[in-house]
Amino acid sequence: MAIVGYIIGANVGYHYIRGEYAAQIVIMEAALKEARAAGLIGENINCSGIDFQIHCCYGAGAYICGEETALIESIEGKRGQPRIKPPFPVSYGLYGCPTLVNNTETMASIPVVLEKGSKSKSYKIFSVSGNVNKPGNYEVPLGIPFAELLALAGGVRGNKQLKAVIPGGVSTPILPVALIMQTKMDYESLSNLGSDLGTGAVIVMDEDTCMVQVLARIVKFYFHESCGKCTPCREGIGWISRILTRILEAKGSANDLKLLVEISEKIANNSLCALGNSVPKVVASFLKYFEAEFAAYIDSREYGKFRN
Ligand code: SF4
Repeated sequence: MAIVGYIIGANVGYHYIRGEYAAQIVIMEAALKEARAAGLIGENINCSGIDFQIHCCYGAGAYICGEETALIESIEGKRGQPRIKPPFPVSYGLYGCPTLVNNTETMASIPVVLEKGSKSKSYKIFSVSGNVNKPGNYEVPLGIPFAELLALAGGVRGNKQLKAVIPGGVSTPILPVALIMQTKMDYESLSNLGSDLGTGAVIVMDEDTCMVQVLARIVKFYFHESCGKCTPCREGIGWISRILTRILEAKGSANDLKLLVEISEKIANNSLCALGNSVPKVVASFLKYFEAEFAAYIDSREYGKFRN
């Protein structure tokens, strides 16, 4: 951050951590204290005449504060809701000043890029979770074949068959086994398949995973995390969540699948930020690859038949 500050002419930076991540806050505060004591941040860094101060900020715990303008609002002590753009943060950001907002992972790559040159191999941290033997964070070359990443994570747990993977966090469309096993983990390859690298949070699901249950869980999360600023996102995601709960409780009807598509289409592109715009794509991907499973769940009329 200090290097970036020097490049853009800023002399203060804010490192924002979601409020629930107490362990990470303690680590960051300790690292800042260490850096200050070593003269690496603060006034006159290493006797260079350059000043750069870093403050550690914590939110109250909101997913939407990952959106740059909601994050700025949160640092300013306001409710974490995205701003209407323009103006963009580069011209009117924190406290009305020009502001550059970037992920910690991006900032952490800068010393490596400076040291090895911009043509050096790119690395990415993939957080692999779900039905794998060794869930964890893997820093590997960007573009690693998914099959290799899965092998690093110890393969699918219990020698089960792989069913599907969410490649970049729950805001990215799901991919079935036939597609994900053939792909490389980079932006272009995943986008060609209609998904996204997103945050690199890879969720692996085995053959026993119930797709209705997974989608209901994801949508419930987004319903909770919608900041409520725009009506299509606030009301539409709640509506989708209620339909999925109805299907899970064996009270669904064939018309519900049509309804899920119709509501999703109304939310898409009518919402202010990426949260509202990504949920319809996620719902569409589940229905595209696993519609038969949703239909079977509805037809069974048995509560919890497919639950695991
Ligand atoms: Fe808030 Fe949803 Fe609108 Fe984003 S799309 S600003 S999360 S209501």
